Amino acid sequence: MIKFTALRPFLQPATSLTSLFPSPEYLVGKHDGAERGQQQVGEDPKESQEEDEDEVLPTTPTSVNYHFTRQCNYKCGFCFHTAKTSFVLPLEEAKRGLQLLKQAGMEKINFSGGEPFLQDRGEYLGKLVKFCKVELGLPSVSIVSNGSLIRERWFRDYGEYLDILAISCDSFDEQVNVLIGRGQGKKNHVENLQKLRMWCRDYRVAFKINSVINRFNVEEDMNEQIKALNPVRWKVFQCLLIEGENSGEDALREAERFVISDKEFEGFLERHKDVSCLVPESNQKMKNSYLILDEYMRFLNCTSGRKDPSKSILDVGVEEAIKFSGFDEKMFLKRGGKYVWSKADLKLDW
Ligand code: SF4
Repeated sequence: MIKFTALRPFLQPATSLTSLFPSPEYLVGKHDGAERGQQQVGEDPKESQEEDEDEVLPTTPTSVNYHFTRQCNYKCGFCFHTAKTSFVLPLEEAKRGLQLLKQAGMEKINFSGGEPFLQDRGEYLGKLVKFCKVELGLPSVSIVSNGSLIRERWFRDYGEYLDILAISCDSFDEQVNVLIGRGQGKKNHVENLQKLRMWCRDYRVAFKINSVINRFNVEEDMNEQIKALNPVRWKVFQCLLIEGENSGEDALREAERFVISDKEFEGFLERHKDVSCLVPESNQKMKNSYLILDEYMRFLNCTSGRKDPSKSILDVGVEEAIKFSGFDEKMFLKRGGKYVWSKADLKLDW
């Protein structure tokens, strides 16, 4: 049974943001799947019945992934958050939304995209990172990036406010990166990764690696390189199909040729079982165990295999919007979603 923390007050926003910035057509009016998402995956019906008799309190947005931009400078063939719009909220509106989330119980924010360092050369992101750490006092502020646009100056200006930087790296073979779509002209993705690792050490930011295991890297042995980079966590995802993003008619990608079977994914994990920081995420674990906010600050519900948006938290508040998020809090806890996520508690040997 899921136990929720105490009810917290929720602020109602003053203006309707999505009326100022109309939603793209493809994302409007698809709440059916989201409503279905209120049924928790794998829940025992008897258990649910008992739970109904208890006071049902709203889901707490403990850990939120805010994909504030869909724009990216890479073209990964399996990308599951594609550039369907170029919209980014005005900075003050984004801060207002983050404030609402904090009041609703948020402890960890992860900024993602698209590529989050693309907007205003990383300044937009830096200002949000600083706001979350200094003004909101969040225990954990993190970023997921492809790493290609990060400059040392950014670390100098904002590094102290950032707990964790996760860099996507799917292969240590540059040819494979090019095949996947992570190639960027003369820049070498792997060399760049090593430089970022050093900056993280120098500026005291915990370093994490995310890898998506797919058809082109499933046979690779990454043991040596990962151990040398020594990240605090190595998140290993199984390539996932999301309708409307990387699969189906209205998608910008066709990821079918990247997909691997569960058995192949297990084979990759088995080969890397000695890497102690490895955190595996199969499709099943991944699907509904993230609270995802899109560029309009709408929760995206993945329970129907596509990303169906709620209303914006800026329009209806967090408590109302989160009902349509499809978030599986049980799976979030089961996959270890709540871990030591503040650099102050990580006790790192920098
Ligand atoms: S780097 Fe990330 S956001 Fe950009 S195309 Fe690749 S998977 Fe998508």
